[in-house]
Amino acid sequence: MKELIPDSSGHKYGPESTQRKNMIKQVDRTIGYLRQRIRESGLESNLNLIITSDHGMETVIKTDEIHLRTVNNFTFKDLDFELLDYGPSGLLVPKEGKLEHVYSVLKDAHPKLHVYKKEEFPKRFHYANHSRITPLLLYSDPGYVQFNKGEHGFDNEAMNMKTIFRAVGPAFKKGLEVEPFESVNVYALLCELLALTPPGHGLGRREGVGTLLEPAPAPCPVPSVPCVQPGLGCGRNSHKGESFTFLALHMAPCGCEVKVCHLPPQRKSVQRTTRTSDS
Ligand SMILES: [Zn+2]
Repeated sequence: MKELIPDSSGHKYGPESTQRKNMIKQVDRTIGYLRQRIRESGLESNLNLIITSDHGMETVIKTDEIHLRTVNNFTFKDLDFELLDYGPSGLLVPKEGKLEHVYSVLKDAHPKLHVYKKEEFPKRFHYANHSRITPLLLYSDPGYVQFNKGEHGFDNEAMNMKTIFRAVGPAFKKGLEVEPFESVNVYALLCELLALTPPGHGLGRREGVGTLLEPAPAPCPVPSVPCVQPGLGCGRNSHKGESFTFLALHMAPCGCEVKVCHLPPQRKSVQRTTRTSDS
């Protein structure tokens, strides 16, 4: 049932509606149940839990609407393509020779409407530098959109567009409150928690999220160890020391060595190295 999703209840009834608030209560109960089961299962000290979402929600303003159809000297006949019915941003491709005209008639058409040529679109949106983005772009101020009672997709600096972020678990500092950070950095945070190296594309940033974590454990004090049963193709040895526990697992056919070391209560440090088959 679509109405039972927080996003669609916000669109349909508005973010301040009773329906939306009941929906939030339901989500809150579900998270409460999840945390209770984590506690009952004895996982609290080694499970990290992050609760977040992808956007906020703004009440749609039904007065002072923006109607391009009524803008002086503007006509859809000057366009080859328009995309204006999908949230608070719009894409326009003017016909050949019409770009300057369309831009100039729309630019100051409404105080809540922002019109840009592609190359002048604000860089902070990380949006216009792509071949599929059209020569003219529009976006409206929060609340100014044609559809629904609640909407998102407005300027991400608007407070109501920001989402929640809560994290609890052994890797996270307790009782810490931080300034807003960009959700794209949650990816790098997850990689850090899973001891994975993020691939390229600039997604490996950790801006604003690094301070959430407890200090990382010391580097692994255990050196690589030779295969304990080289003749058998597969050897396994474990060793418990005073300050660390480690497990070295050698698989001769692929030469793969996995070393899990130094397991303090906070986090695992996992190193994976691949060896050549003759090593
Ligand atoms: Zn939505």
